[in-house]
Formats: sequence, structure tokens, C-alpha cells
Amino acid sequence: MPTSFPPSTSISEDGPSKGLDQISLLSSDDRLKGRPRLCSDCGLCDSQFQPQMAQACVFVRNQTEAIEQRLHGRNRQVGDEQQFGIFRAQYAARMQRPNPKAQWSGMVTALGARLLERGLVDAVMTTGAASGTRFQAQPILARTPAEVLATAGNKPSLSPTLGLLDQVREQGIKRLAFIGTSCQVHALRAIEAELNLDRLDVIGIPCSDNVNYSDLTYFLEQVSRSPSTIVHYEFMQDFRLWMRHENGKIEKLNFIDFPMDKLHGIFPSACLSCFDYVNSLSDLTIGYMGAELGWQWVLARTERGAELFELLRPNLEIGELISRGDRSKGMPHFIQRLAQPPGAKRPPYLVRQLVALLQRRKGSQGLEFARAVIEMKLLRNLNYVRSKFARFEQRVVPYHVYDTLKPYAEQYQAVFERPLN
Ligand SMILES: Cc1cc2nc3c(=O)[nH]c(=O)nc-3n(C[C@H](O)[C@H](O)[C@H](O)COP(=O)(O)OP(=O)(O)OC[C@H]3O[C@@H](n4cnc5c(N)ncnc54)[C@H](O)[C@@H]3O)c2cc1C
Ligand code: SF4
Ligand code: SF4
Repeated sequence: MPTSFPPSTSISEDGPSKGLDQISLLSSDDRLKGRPRLCSDCGLCDSQFQPQMAQACVFVRNQTEAIEQRLHGRNRQVGDEQQFGIFRAQYAARMQRPNPKAQWSGMVTALGARLLERGLVDAVMTTGAASGTRFQAQPILARTPAEVLATAGNKPSLSPTLGLLDQVREQGIKRLAFIGTSCQVHALRAIEAELNLDRLDVIGIPCSDNVNYSDLTYFLEQVSRSPSTIVHYEFMQDFRLWMRHENGKIEKLNFIDFPMDKLHGIFPSACLSCFDYVNSLSDLTIGYMGAELGWQWVLARTERGAELFELLRPNLEIGELISRGDRSKGMPHFIQRLAQPPGAKRPPYLVRQLVALLQRRKGSQGLEFARAVIEMKLLRNLNYVRSKFARFEQRVVPYHVYDTLKPYAEQYQAVFERPLN
């Protein structure tokens, strides 16, 4: 495992690589020259499938509706599927013996490893860390269970994982498992037929507000007292960022205490135009945000996804999914805040402490927490596309966004003086 966090470049002096108001490619990296203005560097354009970009890229034409029809023979029903995507079962679960190097309990990498152990797939596409770093994403085509397990833990930076499709072809791989984010899964599903695979298992992780690696370094410098010793961090369901350091100590920062004036601008335009937080086109989604603290949240979507969950079940502890609170109470404040200019001044310290306490004590929990964050991100991103890429709205915003946000249509109209639809 990589052991050192690379020394920061002079990024903190210069600020993040772009601003929310500045429409830009996600980085000045030479490799990304010539890409469309919205690009999450999913890797497809690094592969021989680059000519299919216009048909596959989620930021050129969102095909959620058609891919759902292909996978499930239908689209989302009213209810939880609007936020969570189509699923046949959902669980709170965790590994009986958690992997200490994993992001949560290690279900994702344990499943990838199990598929190889049982000889069900020939390779697993997964994301390790670049040499000498903890958090810079490095796509890996794993051929052994140990290679998959070595990629446990988040590398919270954009990963060009689909670039590995060339190696899949070169190595004659016919049975493949893929682990990744929803922008990657959309492109993979769109070209699935052309891959000529005999088997494809898609294990999705939820994903939101990803960043490029240099901006990740900058982010950690802004939120932590000791950014270079962070070995693990997560945005927890208790409305705090938890950062674990090399010495085992956990530093916690309330979301409301984030220095937003300094963070304004770290998210790539693509991630702010992304509408599939829950990786709805995967076979099985494994995250955490719909479960109580300490548990993982699993959505089995397709028949294959249900089989994948059964493969792991003997090693799992199964918990209970709960749903507490009322998200509709927080949404009006959120809509008001969205209308304020970005980087607006934070409330005073004591007010922030009170809000943080109330969020922990009275905020939504379990599935209601997941519904709340998903809706907020859908609304924020819809607004972002409308303000920066208005011409793209019809192509990039999928049908379910408008259905999901319908309960807030009146307030949206009142605040933004335009209809939600
Ligand atoms: C940027 C990011 C944001 C996330 N946000 C949320 C969220 O808001 N809510 C939520 O419920 N879950 C979120 N997740 C997923 C969650 O943090 C865990 O990854 C997931 O629950 C699996 O935990 P685990 O212990 O089973 O995984 P592990 O067994 O530790 O395996 C982690 C897996 O994640 C993959 N991975 C790591 N980094 C990347 C990357 N950059 N791109 C693609 N794949 C990667 C690796 O291939 C590895 O297989 C996010 C993940 C990432 C990378
Ligand atoms: S997101 Fe992927 S498919 Fe779209 S332009 Fe970027 S690399 Fe290509
Ligand atoms: S937020 Fe969306 S676009 Fe950005 S990396 Fe995650 S899935 Fe891809």
C-alpha cells in the first residue's frame, strides 16, 4: 500500500484550479486537451472506444431512460425509485470481519475478490492508488483476489478507469467485473454490446462532488489541521466530515463549518452536471448513505445484482434500514440558499454550532437522509446546468430529475422565477 501523501504543490497559494463561474475543462492536463467542456475523465476517451464518445458519454446525451428499459424492461416507479433508481431489494449490511483498509467494511473489494476466487470472472476493473500517493486514483485490471483487495479504500479523485478497456481486449478477457462510479457505468452500459463479453458484472459505488487530484490536495489543506497525515476520510451521515490520521486520531468538521468561500470552485463542471448519485445503472450499488452510521447500504437492482449479493451474504451481518425525519422541512432553506451568490458569507460561529447540533439531533436519518441529499444534489446540479450550460439541459438532464423534484416546483418557481420543468 502506498504510504506517503505527496507534498503539496503551490496549489493552496493559487487556489483551486478553476471557479464555479468559470466553465472549464476539469484540468489543464495535456491528456485532456480537446475533450468536451463537460468531461469527468471516465477513461473511455483514452481507449480505442473514443470514437463512440458521442454515443456513450453521459455528458453528451444522457441515456438513463433507454438503458433502464434495456436492463429492467421499464422506467422508475413513483416512490423511492425516483431517488434511488430501480431496485429489487435494499439492505443495511456489513462484513462480519471488516477489512481495516477498506472505506467502510470492504464489501466492494470482497465481492470483486470472491468473483475471481470462484472463477466467475477473469478480471476485475478497480481503482487503486497511484504510486507514492494515498488518494490519487490509479485504474487497475486485477487478475487475482489479492490484487482486488489491495485496492480497498476510496481514492476520492477522478479516475479514468474505462481506459482499461484496451487491456481487456488485448488480454482476451471475456468475463469481466467492473467497479466504478456512475459516469463510468453509463458509458460502459452504452457500449456494452460492442465489448463482446460473455459476462459483465457491474458493481457501482454512489458518487458525488468528485474532484481532480490537485484540487483534492487543496481541499484537504482547507479542512484539516494536518492534511498530510490523513489516511482515510468520509462525509458521514451525522453531517460531519471525519478524517482519520496516521496516529489513529479522528478529526471531525461540521459540514456547516466548511470554508465555502475557499472551496468555491473545486468541483469539476462535469460533477456539477451529474444526476446519478446512486449509480442506478449498475447491477448492485454498495454505498453507505441510506444506512445508519457504521453500516453499508446496498441496492440489488438486476437479477445479476441479486446473485452478487447472495455470493457475499455468508460473510455479511445484515442490519435494519431505518427512515427518520422529514426532508421536506430542510428543502425550502436549501432552495433559498441556492439562490444566494456562491461563496456567500457563513453564519456566525455560535449559529453554526447550533445548526450542527440540530442537524445531528433532529436531522433526517437512514433512508430519509439519503433521499434528502439526493434531492439537494439533483436540484443544485439542475440549477448549475441551467446557469452554465443551458443549451445542454435537454440532452444532459434525465427524465427522473423533474419527476423527483416535482414537490418543490412551486417554491422553485417563486425563488427562481421560472418553472421547474
Ligand atoms: C468520490 C467518491 C464519493 C463517494 N460518495 C459517496 C456518497 O456520497 N454516498 C455513499 O453512500 N457512498 C459514496 N461513495 C462510496 C463509498 O464511500 C464507498 O466507496 C462504498 O460504500 C464502498 O465501501 P467498501 O468498504 O465496500 O469499499 P472497499 O472495499 O474499500 O472498496 C472501495 C472500492 O472503491 C473503488 N474506488 C475507489 N476510488 C474510486 C474512484 N475514484 N473512482 C472509482 N472507483 C473508486 C475501488 O475500485 C474499490 O474497489 C463515494 C465514493 C467515492 C470514490
Ligand atoms: S466523460 Fe468519458 S466519455 Fe465523456 S468526454 Fe470525458 S472521457 Fe470521454
Ligand atoms: S460526481 Fe458524477 S460525474 Fe463526478 S466522478 Fe462522480 S459519478 Fe462521475
